Amino acid sequence: MAAIENLLIDGERVPSAEGRTFDSVNPATGEVFRTVAEAGSEDADRAVRAATRAFEDWGTRTPIQRAKVLYRFADLIEEHADELALIETRDMGMAIGDARWCAGNAAAVMRYYAGAIDKFFGSTIPVDRDGIVLTFREPIGVTALITPWNFPLNIGNWKTAPALAAGNTVVLKPASLSPLSVLRYAELGLEAGLPPGALNVVPGPGAAVGDALVEHPLVGKVGFTGSTEVGVEIARKAAGTIKRVTLELGGKSACIVFADADLEKAGRMAPFSVFENAGQDCCARSRLLVEASAKDELLEHYVAVTRGIVVGDPESPDTQVGPLVSAGQRETVEGYIARGVEEGATVLEGGIRPEGDGLGTGFYLRPTVLGDCTNDMVVAREEIFGPVVSVITFETEEEAVRLANDTPYGLSGSLWTRDGARQLRVARALRTGAIGVNSNSSVFPQAPFGGYKQSGVGKELGMEGLVHNTELKSVFVSTER
Ligand code: NAD
Repeated sequence: MAAIENLLIDGERVPSAEGRTFDSVNPATGEVFRTVAEAGSEDADRAVRAATRAFEDWGTRTPIQRAKVLYRFADLIEEHADELALIETRDMGMAIGDARWCAGNAAAVMRYYAGAIDKFFGSTIPVDRDGIVLTFREPIGVTALITPWNFPLNIGNWKTAPALAAGNTVVLKPASLSPLSVLRYAELGLEAGLPPGALNVVPGPGAAVGDALVEHPLVGKVGFTGSTEVGVEIARKAAGTIKRVTLELGGKSACIVFADADLEKAGRMAPFSVFENAGQDCCARSRLLVEASAKDELLEHYVAVTRGIVVGDPESPDTQVGPLVSAGQRETVEGYIARGVEEGATVLEGGIRPEGDGLGTGFYLRPTVLGDCTNDMVVAREEIFGPVVSVITFETEEEAVRLANDTPYGLSGSLWTRDGARQLRVARALRTGAIGVNSNSSVFPQAPFGGYKQSGVGKELGMEGLVHNTELKSVFVSTER
């Protein structure tokens, strides 16, 4: 029998206190990839106590001492990028090219925070007294970081890197569907010189280990990425001990294409803003809003590109889109497609399980374009979290903005137009946290990322990632004789 992937607590790989395990399934084959120790509330407590002890050391090191360790950590992530990518691909089905990109991004984000931390400090403030107020950015303490299954390494690292840089210690709880890459990542952190207990990883069910972390009196901050539904629950529970909370939640983002855009370029690129990672992306532009007069020309390109997307074995370098993470997730997505058709949508492309050698046992689904949608349909309102886009037309810029904003979410978005004034006007009018103009890109290590409305509270990445990982102290020093 293959070895069990144990928890990582206090610098050691250890079994769970109750001896429970669960299987991680390779979505490309439906077979067990690894058996993983399943943490429970006792393990959460052990990890928090280890992190509390480690904070006495890590939290009192100078920013420059911490940066040295984090630079080494970034180098190790880079050196092990292929290994981390392959784990991600086998654990959650991400296409290997995307998984390699993610490992590179993890190194870049770690390096960004290693370089940022000695440039992030307080100020001196004159006041109406003899003396001066000094402000200090201080670490919070133990942070509990709870992450979803769709970008396990990236999201785990987006939270861990600024938390560690700021001097906090970490208990990371990945989703049970894809816990493996961050276990290996955390081992690299220890190898880089993190003290034991500074970064613990406790895979396990949200209801047990997640809850125990959120309610633990020694945890100072909860950083959560996941569904809005669970985010609400976490905010409620964290309120009991007034924890600092950041929430990165769901999305239903729009890609707006105006008739004056480069329609060939938009049609060639925009499909990847929703279908990448099989649509399991909080930023997926799952509503395609297109100006009515440009619809036919845009869709000609968009549908042809979608039809050409290579869906298949995620370990093959030619694959652009791998399987969905689980059989259950694929069924959920197929249910949405059926619901869309019932409500009047037309399947312009996809909507089927692909056929081909070796694809039968994996959780594959062809990227799907649903035409003739309106913004009140279920497929246009709910986050599908799969490779499905709903096409909606508009007549005017005002209508495009109104439709894009007519959602409880506000995470991401993109717009395509050659009109420079319109680029800024529409980008400013959208009630959403991150937007790409004539681009699918809206997330960079250096730029703040986070949602408006029910897509979240707080920001990650950029210097804002440090703001949300620190307390701000004011000290008045009297100069009176
Ligand atoms: P999820 O909300 O079901 O689970 C996320 C994490 O929370 C998992 O680790 C889970 O075990 C844990 N959890 C569940 N119940 C809990 C509880 N009661 N207490 C504490 N922890 C609990 O989300 P998911 O299905 O893993 O991921 C998909 C969702 O994540 C989508 O809604 C997606 O939009 C969102 N997401 C958001 C972002 C962002 O940056 N805004 C990024 C990626 C994913």
